[in-house]
Amino acid sequence: MIKDNYMTIKSRVTQAAINSKREPSSVHLIAVSKTKPVSMLMEAYDAGARDFGENKVQEILDKYDRMPKDIKWHMIGHLQTNKVKFIIDKVASIHSVDSLKLAVTISKAAVEKNIVMPVFIEVNVSNEDSKFGIKAEELNEFFNQIRQLPGLEVKGLMTVPPYVENPEDNRQYFVTLKQLAVDISKKNIDNKYDMDLSMGMSGDFEVAISEGATYVRVGTGIFGEREYII
Ligand SMILES: *Cc1c(COP(=O)(O)O)cnc(C)c1O
Repeated sequence: MIKDNYMTIKSRVTQAAINSKREPSSVHLIAVSKTKPVSMLMEAYDAGARDFGENKVQEILDKYDRMPKDIKWHMIGHLQTNKVKFIIDKVASIHSVDSLKLAVTISKAAVEKNIVMPVFIEVNVSNEDSKFGIKAEELNEFFNQIRQLPGLEVKGLMTVPPYVENPEDNRQYFVTLKQLAVDISKKNIDNKYDMDLSMGMSGDFEVAISEGATYVRVGTGIFGEREYII
């Protein structure tokens, strides 16, 4: 039952926050619904889910039309610049900004719509060749390049660590992302940048919360395993 799954994950999120002496409301649970049908999303919605994560533009558009309008859609997957215009006025945030070209495209599209798009910079902290994201060494320069863009608000940092059996193996990456965010904040005291951290998935969100995650992205734990038809 998706409703039960959602409630269970939600209370685990709350408990993880409390265990780390953090305010439970400071951790947002994003229900990652990619590949899943609207009927299943509605079960999560009925259990209280209002933040949904998707990684394909077409899927967001389909589901956006068919789901209640008080949902916040989060783009969490690699985004091609030529598709930005389709979702710019439909998503609440973009968690996967991984190039200057993409940031500039989002900026222009947002200005055109007269909105400010909250974005996360995706950082490849585990340094895997297969992963999207800015390298940790290049983050400061990248941040400084995009922070002034109009129509775009750098809300924080995001990372997708490797899949591991033992969630403790990913703690190092959460610590690194947190440290990178602290470093950026320190360098921008005048703006008192308070960086959000989008990190933690089904297998490791409790560890991520203990290291400061403010957005966790949970798919399998709520909707079950995904089947990919390729
Ligand atoms: C699919 C996905 C998730 C959710 O992963 P689960 O292990 O199913 O919880 C989180 N973040 C991103 C970027 C994803 O693509």
